[in-house]
Amino acid sequence: MTGRKYAALLAMQSLQRASPSRLKNLQDRLVRRLYSHALTHVPLYRDMYRKLDLRKTDVGAVEDLAKLPVIDKSELRAVSEEARIDEGARRETDLVTIRTSGSTGQPFAFPIDHRYDQYRKAQSLRAQLASGRRLFDRVLRLSDVDPDLRGRARSKETGWFRRIGLLNEYHLFPDGDMETQIAEIERIRPDVIHAYGSTLALIVARAREHGTKLYSPRLILTDSELLLAQQRKEIETGFGAPVRDIYGSYETDNIAYECPKGGGYHLTTDSVVVEILIDGAPAPIGEPGDVVCTVLHNLTSPFIRYRLGDVAVLAEQECECKTSFPTMRMVHGRADDYAVDAAGRRISPRSFLARFDALASVREYQIHQLARDNFVVTVVPASGALGDDTRGHITENIREVFPTADVDIRIADRLDRNIGGKLRVFTCALRSEPHDPASPEVE
Ligand SMILES: [Zn+2]
Repeated sequence: MTGRKYAALLAMQSLQRASPSRLKNLQDRLVRRLYSHALTHVPLYRDMYRKLDLRKTDVGAVEDLAKLPVIDKSELRAVSEEARIDEGARRETDLVTIRTSGSTGQPFAFPIDHRYDQYRKAQSLRAQLASGRRLFDRVLRLSDVDPDLRGRARSKETGWFRRIGLLNEYHLFPDGDMETQIAEIERIRPDVIHAYGSTLALIVARAREHGTKLYSPRLILTDSELLLAQQRKEIETGFGAPVRDIYGSYETDNIAYECPKGGGYHLTTDSVVVEILIDGAPAPIGEPGDVVCTVLHNLTSPFIRYRLGDVAVLAEQECECKTSFPTMRMVHGRADDYAVDAAGRRISPRSFLARFDALASVREYQIHQLARDNFVVTVVPASGALGDDTRGHITENIREVFPTADVDIRIADRLDRNIGGKLRVFTCALRSEPHDPASPEVE
């Protein structure tokens, strides 16, 4: 029911300029609703909070979230789906399943209801519009995970929206065939290109090698992965268009968007409570800390004080766009490497890591490319051993993109992590990286 999506969009557009006190009241009310719902209907949270002797009246406002424990993905994955969803939703048959991108290294799926599904789609659109997309723009999305969308960009939209050109989107699977991607950009002449930063950096590098001038859209949107400062600069120069980054995750949906006025990332506090914590306590303004999110509108699969493994800094300055949403900056550890395909072309690992989504018996994984046709996949199994079928799926996932690859699967108890606790899911031994900052950077 898309009518609900656009009603949600209109309502949230006005909240960007609501007074801080109105936003705070809204957050308090939504936190109370979420907490009381989780305490009453979601076994995981009920057990956790009762052990701490917490009552319904203990959480009445955003500040009270500090009484609740911080959780992360490994804790959610350690319990059954039944334990972490609304008991009333178990019998629902028309829930939507969200699979986190395999590129987090921790495959994970959870259900949401249709109401929230419409809300989060509206929220994603709001972030794009706030970053400079317009309703009648022609948008090319180079981040589709469906390999059938190789070669030629296609529109998924049907009906009257498409006929009048509203929310006009073309989708293309970003693989190693850069010439096709460059040609499709030229053919479609999009107003906006929406893609992973790593994909666009490759296109820019290829165009430069061949002396090709890239078509300039009005705006470039990036999301889903760490956007390195150097990457951003090269993309902006190569395409002759500004880059705006959108920050979110599958579990939290949109968290923040980059303001066209240059004021940093604005936190969408009507949807998510974002805490920046150092050793569990709020980080002072200007100091980097762990990003911990409470998702306010998802009652079927609640995420309450959920640690994402990202590092950010709350900023003090006000933005000239006059939004009431507070501002933060991202602090980046190292991003994933690029992969190198059989023909020696660099490709973004995002285009095939998404295939690892459905591996329920894998707790965590990390992939290292040793040679063009040689991969080591280190796996922490969800329970003890790893079945032959899962081993088969892992090998298949890699051979879908690297057909002749040898895949060595190794079992481990734990994997090495970045600052902020984030996994670097894909690393490559081949000298292929255009950007390789040795130390974390702030932008
Ligand atoms: Zn702004």
